[in-house]
Amino acid sequence: MRRKVVAGNWKMNTTVSEGEKLAERLVDADVSAVDVIVAPPFTHLDRVGSVLEKTDIALAAQTLSVDTFGAHTGEVAGEMLADLGCSYVIVGHSESRGRGENDEIVAQKIERAFETGLTPIICIGEDEEVYNSGERLDFLKGQVRSALGAVDSSKAFMFAYEPIWAIGTGKTASADDAQSVIGEIRGELPKEVADDIRILYGGSVKAENVEGFLSKDDVDGVLVGGASLKADSFKAIIDGASHV
Ligand code: PEP
Repeated sequence: MRRKVVAGNWKMNTTVSEGEKLAERLVDADVSAVDVIVAPPFTHLDRVGSVLEKTDIALAAQTLSVDTFGAHTGEVAGEMLADLGCSYVIVGHSESRGRGENDEIVAQKIERAFETGLTPIICIGEDEEVYNSGERLDFLKGQVRSALGAVDSSKAFMFAYEPIWAIGTGKTASADDAQSVIGEIRGELPKEVADDIRILYGGSVKAENVEGFLSKDDVDGVLVGGASLKADSFKAIIDGASHV
């Protein structure tokens, strides 16, 4: 049985002090029934990590460099993230893809994640144009196959299906649609791991809709942006997920 996941992506929000306070307000969340992951900005990882150390909430980075140590100004290596206590790293978020992270770079980042002991949360998703074109599944399967080329299937990894038109817009896929797309994605996974790999839905998830998504057989968790920035709304999502 796949354990449900609630992951919060803070994106480039909060100062370090504000992030630390947000993390402090998560310490009493009941995370006994679901896996909870928080992805603050790089600058916050040390202090937020210290706050969350006493909880079962796992720490994630929002991306990582394709390179290891060396002359790569401004980059952050997977080794550094693992040393800061990160267990997960988001790879291929649509906001990163929108700034030039193509499938090839996503594949390199997945490899670096495995090399440095981080579990990649691999984001895929179509924009509105692809959604309307009727070629959505072909597009998504292409992203999945490219990522799978870099995956070490002896290790844990996750996919997050995040339709771009639903991110930060208040629009969501319907729970049935998320189930149907995620079921198709699962069908692309190697047979020996397909039943174990967790696939999340992301896109305007909130407390009011989380149970609908998670009641679907193939939807194993949620990746939450905006609603993870307030402790009360994130805890309400965790509670909702825990009751499915
Ligand atoms: C995200 O950033 O991955 C996301 C799904 O954002 P939001 O929940 O705000 O739509």
